[in-house]
Parts: sequence; C-alpha cells; structure tokens
Amino acid sequence: MRILIAEDDAVSRRIIEAHLHKWGYQVVTARDGNEAWQILQSAEVPRLAILDWMMPGMDGVELCRKVREEAKEPYTYLILLTTLNGTEDLVTGMNAGADDYLTKPYNANELRCRLRAGRRIIDLQEELITAREALRAKASHDQLTGLWNHEEILRILARELARGIREGTPVGAIMADLDHFKAVNDDHGHQAGDAVLRESADRILSLMRPYDAAGRYGGEEFLFVLPDCNEENTAVMAERIRSLLGRDPVKTPQGRIPVTVSLGAAVSGPGEVDAGSLVRAADQALYLAKSKGRNRVEFGGVETVRTHADAAIQGERGL
Ligand SMILES: [Mg+2]
Repeated sequence: MRILIAEDDAVSRRIIEAHLHKWGYQVVTARDGNEAWQILQSAEVPRLAILDWMMPGMDGVELCRKVREEAKEPYTYLILLTTLNGTEDLVTGMNAGADDYLTKPYNANELRCRLRAGRRIIDLQEELITAREALRAKASHDQLTGLWNHEEILRILARELARGIREGTPVGAIMADLDHFKAVNDDHGHQAGDAVLRESADRILSLMRPYDAAGRYGGEEFLFVLPDCNEENTAVMAERIRSLLGRDPVKTPQGRIPVTVSLGAAVSGPGEVDAGSLVRAADQALYLAKSKGRNRVEFGGVETVRTHADAAIQGERGL
C-alpha cells in the first residue's frame, strides 16, 4: 500500500519514511501542503496520508477539508500530525475530515497501530465497493447472456434518443427474435436453449461498435440500440446480425443446432421520438418479418411524438 507523508520538517519526514519502509509500505513524500495536494489529486492517489498540521502553503486541516470536499473514490484515510501542547484544536481537525491524529513526538508502535487501523477501514471500504459494483452489474445485466437486461436497454435507448435530439443525429433500434426457439427447447431441452441464447448474444456482441448497446428484451428477443445510425447503417447492421446468426449451427452439449433470426428495425428522427414509439415500430417490423417467412429484416415507420407543448395547444383548441 502507498502512503503519502506530508511534512515540512525534513528530519521528521525521514524518520516516518524509514519506519514505513521497514513495515513494508511504499512511500511518497511532500514537503509542503501544495505539493501534497498535487499528489492527492493525481491518478494514483495514495490510499492513506499522514499530514502534518503546520505546513507552508496549505496546512493539514485545509488538505483534509479539500480531500473530503472532492469525495472521491476510493477513500483516502487521513491521519493528522499535531504537536503536544500545541495550539491546534483537535475538534477542528476531525471536523475537517481527518480520520485519526497522532501527537508528536509519537512512538513508532503507536504509529504502526494507527496505520493498521487505517488499513482495516480501507480494506472494508474496498469490499463494500466491490459488493456494490457486483450488485449494480447484477441489477442491470441479464444473467444468462451478460447483455443489458430489459429495463437497462430501455433506459439506454431513452438516453441515446435524448442525445440524438440534442445533437440532431438519428438512433437506430433493432428488435430481433430467434426463429422457432420454442422448438429448440422442446426438442433439445432448456440447456441447449440456454446455449443457443448465449452463443447468439456472443455473436451479436462481436458485431457491435463500442458505443452500441445490446440487451435481452425478453425470452429469445433482443433489442439493439445504435446511436448515430441512419436507416442505411441500421439496415446493414441488421443484415449482418441475421447473416452471422444463421451462418453456422450453434454447438451445444446436445448437438449442433441451426439458428435463424427475424429482425425488425426502426430509426428515429427527424422530430422527437420516444423510446416506446421506436420500440413499437421495430416490434411491428419484426412481426412483419415473421409473417413474411422469418430469417429476414423488415423496417418499420416511426410516428413522431407530439411534444407536450403541441399537445397542450391542441388540447386548448379542443382538437
Ligand atoms: Mg510542520
């Protein structure tokens, strides 16, 4: 673990540094508050900092305050160094955001214990962040395929539509449904069905640009969001998906299973379009693709949504 020592007194600084090295810590030092602040803002922030209270430039308390104002993650554990019988008010230091303090002259064992306490807090916080991120991923992803789940892909579509309106760019939406998927489950079992869904998702992901989004919309239904894609680009992508999914049968423990997919596409703009309208248009086109014999791409027309202002005016006129 890397620790920052900010201390203007060279002797004191070297003594702490020597101790920390002996205990296996990596050390970065600062000779005044401003230098310490630079280090605390760098990309690789030390997880623990020992800050002298009295320093030229920014003092230790001000550093604590600024670090806490930024409220960055991961958390930096802050230990203030004070002088015995000094004028420093500990309450001020702790209120500014220090986690602990040490009075000079301190003994080495005391410093070592305080550092251990700090490490425990940092480790706990790391576990919490990991757990939170895992929960977040679970809440937004489909467990089987790893694609975005239903709620998240709709949220992404709404976000991209808002961006598209702002930037005057179209957004493509493709709804895809594996053909005769029920038969896969019925004939080969659910394990094979799951393998087909996973492999289909992997193939689709291999076609997406980094800023495209792919979600599992329902059972064997997928929704793709393609920012800044007009009808032509969207049609190309839909055709690529259709062609790649149908090219080679999916290998499953139950044998090789041929797969085809039907796709419905729709593109937003010009004019304001909401996520629901775009999905409906893509869904209708998908329905058409199914009824025309499956394993094909169809396009749907999008109704432009009336803005609230339009609706209000027309309401007033009794239209
Ligand atoms: Mg000092």
